[in-house]
Parts: sequence; structure tokens; C-alpha cells
Amino acid sequence: MLRKLQVRQGPIMRMLLVEDEAKVSSFVARGLMAERYAVDVARDGQSGLELANTYHYDLVILDLMLPVMDGTEVLRRIRHKNSTVPVLILTARDAVSDKVGNFEAGADDYLTKPFAFAELLVRVKALLRRGPVSRSSTVRVDDLELDRLSQQVKRGGKRIDLTSKEYALLEYLMSNAGRVLSRTMIIEHVWDQSFDGITNIVDVYVRHLRNKVDDSHQRKLIRTVRGVGYTISDGAQS
Ligand code: CA
Repeated sequence: MLRKLQVRQGPIMRMLLVEDEAKVSSFVARGLMAERYAVDVARDGQSGLELANTYHYDLVILDLMLPVMDGTEVLRRIRHKNSTVPVLILTARDAVSDKVGNFEAGADDYLTKPFAFAELLVRVKALLRRGPVSRSSTVRVDDLELDRLSQQVKRGGKRIDLTSKEYALLEYLMSNAGRVLSRTMIIEHVWDQSFDGITNIVDVYVRHLRNKVDDSHQRKLIRTVRGVGYTISDGAQS
């Protein structure tokens, strides 16, 4: 059973909440919607998995004890599909072995019930800022390579020096290679949810990045999608 609580227009963060306890799920969903997130709710593991496989979510909040399919199995299947969506586990279990098992299955964070909404919100924001994380430390687009551990970027084997914001922007673009990211999405991920200056800051930083990443190369990787935003992809024409 699934209930679509809210769908909003525009590039806002969308999350999936898989929770069978009506009280918890409505408390969490209402709180998140009050924070201007879009929330889809599933009441069992199977429908949660179907939603996760069908739509793009910025975050999945997943209970462990679920009817039809338990949360650990849902998580395993999400990761099996190579999805990098951040997953926050929400559960009454607090045994250390459960935590370890779920981190191994690909959970990004863990919150034990009962919890205060404020604590959930802090973790949600942290995961959203971080964005999707590939399970491997290196991400490649064409001959551009970014290593998350060393935070080094190379193109054609040649090292590129970036400022921390340029690096964060490039990492976000590369983690979503082929996907068009709006300026709002970029601001929310790279700067802060609370960044409210509507400026051309994204365009300025993309220009800096292009200067370092693309300008001396024939193949341009960073592409402007007019009226929408930016994307990075293999051998794109600019
Ligand atoms: Ca439950």
C-alpha cells in the first residue's frame, strides 16, 4: 500500500519514506513536508522497493521491521541495482550487530527509535548535502577522474588543482553524470540549504571549473542545458 502525500512543482528534494507504523510515518512525513521536502510514503518493503526502483529520490528513509519484505532486504536490492541514493535507516533495533550488518548492506546513516524530529532533520540535511555516494572512491567521466578519498582530480592523467567549492561542485556533477542539475539543486547540495541569495554564483563557479577542466581540451565535458542547468557527460558538445 502506498500513499502519495505530496508532489510539488520545481526542483525540490524528494524523498521516500518506507515505514509501516502509521503514527511514525505521518509524524515524519508531516515534519519533512513542513521543511518543504516532497515525501512519498510506502507502508511495506515491497512497495517501497518498487517506488525506489521507479522514481528518482534524493534520499530514502527506511524502517527495518516491515511487512512483506524487511528493510535490510529492501536496502540490499536497492544497492544491487547500483543505486547510490543515500539511505537513512530508522528502527527500534539498536544492537550493534544490526548496525554493522546494515552499514555493510549499504546504509549511510542510522537512527534509533524513539527519536526527536530535530535529530532526524539534522541527519537528513547532512545526507542531502553529501548527495549520492558511489560505493567506489573513484568516479570517472570520459578521461576525467575524481578520487573521493584523496580529493584529487585528474584529466588525461594530469592533475587539476581545484578549490574546495570547485571540487564539491565537480563531485556533485560527476556523481550525477548524464543527469541535468538545476542551479537550485546545485546550490542546495554544494552550498547550503539555507543559502538564499538568488545570484549567479553557480554560473560563476561553473565558469571556473570549465576553465580548469575543459578549456584546454578538445572534448568538452561540462554542458549547459539552457533554461535548466548543467550536466557533465562523456564527450558532450558545448
Ligand atoms: Ca516497522
